[in-house]
Amino acid sequence: MRDRAPDLIIGNGVVVTCGPEPQVIADGAVAVAGELIRDIGTTRDLRERYPGTRFEDVGGRLVMPGMTCTHMHLYSTFARGMQLDGDPARTFGQILERLWWRLDRALTEEDVWMSAMMPLMWCVRNGTTTILDHHSGPNAIPGSLDVIADAVTRAGMRASLAYEVSDRDGEKARDQGIAENVRFIEACKRNRSPLLRATFGLHASFTLSDETLRACVDAPGACEAGFHIHTAEGIEDLIQSIRQYGQPVVKRLDRLGLWNDKSLAVHCVHISPEEIEILKDRDVNVVHNPESNMGNAVGAAPALDMINRGVRVGLGTDGYTYDMFESIKVGNLIHKHNEADPQAAWGEIPLMAFENNSKILAKYWDVPLGVLAPGAYADVIVVNYWAPTPITSSNWYSHVLFGVSGGMVDSTLVGGKFLMRRGELLTVDEQEMAAKSREMARRLWERA
Ligand SMILES: [Zn+2]
Repeated sequence: MRDRAPDLIIGNGVVVTCGPEPQVIADGAVAVAGELIRDIGTTRDLRERYPGTRFEDVGGRLVMPGMTCTHMHLYSTFARGMQLDGDPARTFGQILERLWWRLDRALTEEDVWMSAMMPLMWCVRNGTTTILDHHSGPNAIPGSLDVIADAVTRAGMRASLAYEVSDRDGEKARDQGIAENVRFIEACKRNRSPLLRATFGLHASFTLSDETLRACVDAPGACEAGFHIHTAEGIEDLIQSIRQYGQPVVKRLDRLGLWNDKSLAVHCVHISPEEIEILKDRDVNVVHNPESNMGNAVGAAPALDMINRGVRVGLGTDGYTYDMFESIKVGNLIHKHNEADPQAAWGEIPLMAFENNSKILAKYWDVPLGVLAPGAYADVIVVNYWAPTPITSSNWYSHVLFGVSGGMVDSTLVGGKFLMRRGELLTVDEQEMAAKSREMARRLWERA
């Protein structure tokens, strides 16, 4: 496959390769063969090396690997603008009860598809090409991950899917949730679509009994797929775990056997140094979601401390945004603000967004993601950015941090295929879809 002749050269761009040793190539180009990157170099070299290959002239724009998001909730779409009954939510627990759990209980299968399709289009628009999603919808569980997979495939994106098992909607929903994860994990193994993967989803420690967690750990294929779980996000999770089980959240989940190198411990805001050691010893992937943490006012996760102690921490959005450049900007600020130190987080946020997210995705995909390199998936974005100052291999991150936002993405490719070209979405009619979405959201709001 790597020796196949390229069928596309994306050139006349400023190529930022990202990956462990990021390079900036002025007048650079990326040669694509099928779904993989075949070669990287200067435009002149690649055009000489592969004469006659279709050439996409990007006019000096920035060319980067597609952005990756290691924690997302596609199902959150219809929450936008939803009016809540009763008093405003003051705590994280009230936000869950008054908004998210009302929304997810009202989702039908049809809603699940549409509420996935809309943000998938926004991912493409914002240059996010791979997401690790975490789905909830307790009254439409069986087959729901297939419904999302259908939207993912139609959009042309790459996603790992999971259903968040919980005890909060009773035994039937719990058992259906377990079965849905098991079914989808098996289906992914059978189909081996390069676009789809699976993890075993769990809501959070405070809505899961020991009995349920044991059933999940014993479920076929679960440990092998890894567990994707909200971990000590709000203080409520920590308090409940100590009160009921005499252990903080990470320790409790360790006792029950959830942690391995494919597991995703999302948030980890309220954890102790001892628990950070557990995450490191078990080689767990932690996902930091700074914008969500600030929005829900749950506190600043000790993400820098975790990194300093050797934990692999990636960057997600928690469904708060589809724009990873926005998550990078907020991640850059939260730790500077929190520690009152303007030097904080300079190295850690790009490490999370680029290197660690790639390492996390490598647990599920056997072809590299989040990097422009020969042999990696040809997930490429072109950005409307012409650097106002010199851009080099040592300062590219400053350009990305201060100069780029998702709305500046001009073209997005996944697996060598354009999903958006020169601002136009190619796989889905966005306006038609949005009109249908508004109508479905209106009906959902009436019954939620
Ligand atoms: Zn989440």
